[in-house]
Amino acid sequence: QQSSAETSLSLARSHELFAEAQTLLPGGVNSPVRAFRGVGGAPIFIDRAEGSYLYDVDGNRYLDYVQSWGPMILGHSYPSVVQAVTEASQRGFSFGAPTQAESVLARLVIESVPSVEMVRFVNSGTEATMSALRLARAYTGRSKIIKFSGCYHGHADMLLVQAGSGVATMGLPDSPGVPAETTANTLSVAYNDGDAVAELFRTYPNEIAAIIVEPVAANMGLVLPQPGFLERLRTLSSQYGAVLIFDEVMTGFRVALGGMQERVGMTPDLTCFGKIIGGGLPVGAYGGRREIMQLVAPLGPMYQAGTLSGNPLAMAAGIATLNELRQPGQYERLEQKGQLLSEGIERVLYDQKIPAQFVRIGAMFCLYFSAEPVTNYASARRSDTAHFASYFWQMLERGIYLPPSQFEACFISLALTNAQLADTVAAVSAVLKKQD
Ligand code: PLP
Repeated sequence: QQSSAETSLSLARSHELFAEAQTLLPGGVNSPVRAFRGVGGAPIFIDRAEGSYLYDVDGNRYLDYVQSWGPMILGHSYPSVVQAVTEASQRGFSFGAPTQAESVLARLVIESVPSVEMVRFVNSGTEATMSALRLARAYTGRSKIIKFSGCYHGHADMLLVQAGSGVATMGLPDSPGVPAETTANTLSVAYNDGDAVAELFRTYPNEIAAIIVEPVAANMGLVLPQPGFLERLRTLSSQYGAVLIFDEVMTGFRVALGGMQERVGMTPDLTCFGKIIGGGLPVGAYGGRREIMQLVAPLGPMYQAGTLSGNPLAMAAGIATLNELRQPGQYERLEQKGQLLSEGIERVLYDQKIPAQFVRIGAMFCLYFSAEPVTNYASARRSDTAHFASYFWQMLERGIYLPPSQFEACFISLALTNAQLADTVAAVSAVLKKQD
C-alpha cells in the first residue's frame, strides 16, 4: 500500500514551511489533526481557496471535502460572505459593546431552530459546550454529566473523557494535565447504548445535571443514532430532571437548517453551535429554553463572558452564510449532491467487493475500511487505519482533499458541482481498484 513518501505530488514548499513551523509551533500546527499524524507524512500548506477548491503553496489544486472542518458549507470565498465581512471590517473590528448584528444573527438562529428561544454567542464550539454544561449545572444544582465515548465536545477539561470499553466508566482523563477531580463527575457510556444511560440514572437519580450528545456522532468517523436512541435520552432526561444538550456544532445548519433536531423532530433543552454559524470566522453559541437561558449573566447568576464574543466580523460572516442557507432549495441541493456521491461510492464498493462501510447523512459522510457496521467508538476503532492512510494519499494525488484521519467526517459543500462529484467517485473507484 502506498504511503506519503511515495506520492508523486510536488510538495517541496509545503515541506519547507512545515519544517520551519515545527521549530515555532508544537508539531508545526495549532490544532493536532492538521499535522497528518493519522495518515503519516507532512501536511499540505494552503495558500488560498475558492469555491470547491483548495490551492496549496506548491500550486496543486484539490477538491475540498474538509471545508475547514465544517464551516464552509457554501464553498470558499463565497461572494456575499466576503462582501459582508469586508463591509463590517471597514466599520471597525471589535468594539466590546453591543451591535445590531448580534441580534440579527440571534434572530436567524432562533427562527431556524425552534428549541432555541434565546442564544449567547461565544468564540468556539469548545466555549459553547463548556458554557452549556455550566448552565445545566447551575439550573439543576447537580454536578454529574453524561457523555458518550467517541463524542468530542471540544477540549474543556471535564469533557476530555472518552472512556474505554465497559458499560460505564467513571471519568478518567484522556490527557495529562487534566486532574482526575475535574473529570470525576463525567460519566461516559457507549454511543447508541440507551440501556447504559438508564442504568446511570437509576444509580444517580438526583445527581445528573445533563446529558450532552452529538445527535450524529461525527468525531469518530460518522456514526448515526440508531432509531429511538435520541428519543430515549429525551425521555430519561425529562424523567430524572436532567438537561438534554444537543451538541450541534457539527450538525447545526448542516444536516438541515434546524440541525439534527429538525430531522428527528426533537426538542433538546439546550443546543450548542459553532462552525457554520460563523461562516469560517471564530464563533460558537449556546441557546435553548428561555427558562434556562435566563440564568446566564447579567440576566442571571451563571457567569460567562468574552472580550471578542459577538465579534462584528464573525457576526457578519454568520449572517451572510445563514441568509444563503435559508434560500429555498439549498438543503435539497445538498441532499441531491450527497445522493450522487452515495450512489457512486456504494456501487464501487459493491462492484469491487470492498469490505467497507459508507455512511452518510445529508452533506456529511465517512468511508470506514471495516467489514462490520459501525455503531459506536469501539466498532469505529476496529476499522483499518493503514488502509485509510493509503487511500487518503492516493485520493490526494488525484486532487481530492479528504480529512487526514479515518475518524473525521467528510463534508459536501454547495460549491461542488455534479461533475466534480462524479470525478470524486471515479477517483475512489480507481484508488480502491488499484489497492485490491
Ligand atoms: N463539538 C463538536 C461536535 C465538534 O465537532 C467540535 C469541533 O470539531 C467542537 C464541539 C469544538 O469546537 P471548536 O473546535 O470550535 O472549539
